[in-house]
Amino acid sequence: MNYHDQHLHTYFSFDADETFENYLKYQPEYFVSTEHFDLKNPAENFQDSIPDYNLYTKKISELEQSFPTKFLKGIELGIVPGQEQEIIDYLSTRPYDLKLLSIHQNGTFDYMDDIVLSKDKIAVTTEYFEAMTHVLTNFHEADILAHFDYGIRRFDFTVKEFAEHFEDQLSTVFKKVIEKEMALELNSKSFVKYQKESLYDYAIALYQNLGGKYFSLGSDAHQAADYQLAFEEMSAKLKAHHVKSLTLFIGKERVQIPL
Ligand SMILES: [Zn+2]
Ligand SMILES: [Zn+2]
Repeated sequence: MNYHDQHLHTYFSFDADETFENYLKYQPEYFVSTEHFDLKNPAENFQDSIPDYNLYTKKISELEQSFPTKFLKGIELGIVPGQEQEIIDYLSTRPYDLKLLSIHQNGTFDYMDDIVLSKDKIAVTTEYFEAMTHVLTNFHEADILAHFDYGIRRFDFTVKEFAEHFEDQLSTVFKKVIEKEMALELNSKSFVKYQKESLYDYAIALYQNLGGKYFSLGSDAHQAADYQLAFEEMSAKLKAHHVKSLTLFIGKERVQIPL
């Protein structure tokens, strides 16, 4: 089995227009889109952004008729502390094969919004990792921690500065990821567009020192041209850290794919 991209969006996400068919030009053996789910989303005027489960299921059944690819259902759960139970209830009647866990917003602003630039970066980042810890403590259904660095994409931290302020918090987060046997995502957008490669170097080593073994690659593509973006560079990065395999989530099963 080949590795496939475990983080990408189609028109079922509020911020993407891309079609399944364009991604399927890559002829993947398996395909999974991970559509945005964000309750009271500041990026959408505090409306709930929820991918239409029935339409999504219907579309996937149709694709199964016309493509040799095997399809999985995926979702990227953006969670604010306090929303955990509502999301657990929502998912109880809507089974997904792959669930990403993300912290995108704090109920007031998205961590990518310009407003964060007017705030104290230490305070915002502390709050961000507190939220992540809270959600990981109260929500047990996710397979992958997506872009652990989302909340600091707009900030310039040197690795030294980041480690001084946040190593304890990030260690707490990673211990919970390890305890739940979730995978840590290397996110192409963080890696390439937001130039967080050295932060990932630091985080991979920290996660491994704490016992972390499971890694996932995700392009976070919102258009098909970005499918598996920078996967070679990110794979090389993991090899440099002596990682031997990547983890694929295929429904209830996980499969280790050699690097
Ligand atoms: Zn995200
Ligand atoms: Zn995403």
